[in-house]
Amino acid sequence: MADYPLPPAKIRESVKLAPFWWEAAEPDPISAEDPPESADVVIIGGGYTGLNAALELARAGVDALVLDADRIGFGASTRSGGMVSGGVNLGNKGKSLPESQARAMMEEAKESYRNWEAIIERERIDCDYQKTGRFVGAHCRKAYGGLQARIDTLNAQSPGSAWLVPEAEMRNEIHSDHYRGGFTTTVSGGVHPARYHQGLAKATRAAGAATRDGIRVTGVSGKRGAFTVHTERGDIKATEVLAATNGYTGGATPALQRRVIPVASHIIATEELGEDVVKDCFPTLRMTGDTNRLLNYYRPSPCRKRIIFGGRASFRAGIQMEECAAILYRRMTSIFPQVMGCQLTHAWTGNVGFTFDFTPHLGEREGIHYALGCNGSGVVMMSHLGRQVARKIIGGNNTPSAFDSAALGHAFTTRPLYYGTPWFLPSIGRWYALRDWLDRKLDGA
Ligand SMILES: Cc1cc2nc3c(=O)[nH]c(=O)nc-3n(C[C@H](O)[C@H](O)[C@H](O)COP(=O)(O)OP(=O)(O)OC[C@H]3O[C@@H](n4cnc5c(N)ncnc54)[C@H](O)[C@@H]3O)c2cc1C
Repeated sequence: MADYPLPPAKIRESVKLAPFWWEAAEPDPISAEDPPESADVVIIGGGYTGLNAALELARAGVDALVLDADRIGFGASTRSGGMVSGGVNLGNKGKSLPESQARAMMEEAKESYRNWEAIIERERIDCDYQKTGRFVGAHCRKAYGGLQARIDTLNAQSPGSAWLVPEAEMRNEIHSDHYRGGFTTTVSGGVHPARYHQGLAKATRAAGAATRDGIRVTGVSGKRGAFTVHTERGDIKATEVLAATNGYTGGATPALQRRVIPVASHIIATEELGEDVVKDCFPTLRMTGDTNRLLNYYRPSPCRKRIIFGGRASFRAGIQMEECAAILYRRMTSIFPQVMGCQLTHAWTGNVGFTFDFTPHLGEREGIHYALGCNGSGVVMMSHLGRQVARKIIGGNNTPSAFDSAALGHAFTTRPLYYGTPWFLPSIGRWYALRDWLDRKLDGA
């Protein structure tokens, strides 16, 4: 594995510690405009969830106000890998849910992707969407052996959309000897996450919803129909409140904070390597991920001249971004030794909102609506759940969402001793890293 050509201490001097995506679509600076005194629906959080909800509400003539503690779009929505799909990982929930409920979730996830494609088209959001498909590499032979079940599920939903790629044919998908084969799915693609967010924010405002940045919500009191949203800049009266705070959920909604686990994910962007080098690494230009417990996700940039490489670089509290960038660089060059020596231009981090059952949830707690817990895949899913909550508020949903916590067996639970600080993550991270390493060692890698 190669070390970054510069020591971590030097990275700060040459690498911008901000999302690469912000070069094309940086969130607007904080305007400090005062909030109104009241709104029908106050939405806490200006990412995909909040904006999709606001757009849907505004289109139905409901007075919606989106508040963000920072810039609108400062959270995960402008920091992601931009990989989109119609899948949902049901995690451990897949085993405990009634089969019909699990099937309903998968159907809804598939539908949400179609709707997401329709919405970027309808709203004319120019966000470099490319339906490239996705390749997932098996980090060991055992993992490869388990892929057929995933393929069967995908093909049951969209016949012929997924297939196994044996190790001997892997070079057709990825120019690397790192994996033991993998699988490809065509129901997936890539988007420029910050341009999607920017276009969505524009459409939301044009539809009549208000957005206010730099306004942190500190608490919510009252009850449905008569809420008071307390902010650092005064109180706002609201009929309904939606928490759309995902991996940034905090003390303003303490019951929800206990149910969402913020996990930092990190990404690096290489300098321009040229289209030939990128095409050599990714012959099909697909989005790519792997089966590691601490998964890597990576892709060509929309211009196809750079590699965008992400993963959970470390769970260590207080680790500096420079060190995370160096860790990801080592991982990237262990997969693509051919780009060893290249420079990085950007490195950044963002919070993913996990839940204890690894599935997304929408619902209502203490009268406050929520759509939370993207579990790493939220570009499509959180957009969808934002719209679903809005429809619930408007009263226009004939069938409730399968992700509604009111559904059978889908309670939004917490764990004893968890109050929003994930003290257990460093131990889990070390355990996962050890198991990933062992899997490969036992394989002779
Ligand atoms: C590094 C990274 C890579 C990812 N890669 C992918 C990917 O490739 N594909 C994919 O599908 N998903 C990916 N995701 C997940 C995806 O980005 C998220 O699921 C999605 O953006 C969540 O949107 P959201 O609107 O729910 O939350 P966010 O975009 O995080 O917005 C929440 C907002 O709430 C605001 N907020 C919090 N508390 C308060 C308060 N008290 N008052 C006011 N505002 C508040 C925050 O400032 C924040 O802006 C990734 C996430 C990260 C971090």
